[in-house]
Amino acid sequence: MNGEPLVIAIDGPSGSGKSSVARGVARALGLAYLDTGAMYRAATWWCRERGVPLDDEVAVAREVAALPLVMGLDPAAPTVTVAGIDVGEAIRSTEVSQAVSAVATNLDARAELGARQRELIDTERTATSFSGGRGVVAEGRDITTVVAPDAPVRVLLTASAQARLARRALEVHGTDSAAALQATRDQVLRRDADDSTVVEFHQAAPGVVTVDSTDLDLDGTVAAVLEVVADLTGVRP
Ligand code: C5P
Repeated sequence: MNGEPLVIAIDGPSGSGKSSVARGVARALGLAYLDTGAMYRAATWWCRERGVPLDDEVAVAREVAALPLVMGLDPAAPTVTVAGIDVGEAIRSTEVSQAVSAVATNLDARAELGARQRELIDTERTATSFSGGRGVVAEGRDITTVVAPDAPVRVLLTASAQARLARRALEVHGTDSAAALQATRDQVLRRDADDSTVVEFHQAAPGVVTVDSTDLDLDGTVAAVLEVVADLTGVRP
């Protein structure tokens, strides 16, 4: 690592593997890790907890503006805390996964969470981070385009729809049988279709490098992203 702070932005659809890959890259380079999807999930969990109907845009925006959220950015053990409660597991529930697009398509909520993400990234740029590195790997849907368009490394992680469905089915149901694939469809394809109405994450914006993980395993995908980082910045693990 050289001394320059490094911001790596990774976007991609559900099941592209971006969370695991971003964590792996952060660990390899000694950087912090920011899971922005977890922030949308935490906001969704909080609105449900507070009994706010997710189709009430004004009420949802109000709750998100006051969301008592703390993100832990250690890639070895990332945490998500809302009002002092560890919601790391609760935000992965099927209920939250099915409802999260309602918050993600609320433009006021997006502006609020995007501003918080920029602040977290800025702090990591100046702080000494995990294992002595400086900087952060931030992943989501609009990091390369809206939240951190100036990041020196921007990657769009893609995979075929079939590969993404199979990965999510294995993760959620422990199998990629036909029944599990069918049950996973809503979580992957419908959610991406809804999310696509407010952010573009299927097509790389100019200057964003596409990494296709369809035929790669996790280690292979991490290595491919590290290769992009080395090409663009000269920084290696
Ligand atoms: O990545 P993950 O599946 O945890 O993201 C959950 C949801 O958060 C996505 O389906 C999307 O609705 C929303 N999201 C977003 N913008 C981001 C990250 C996530 O809209 N930067």
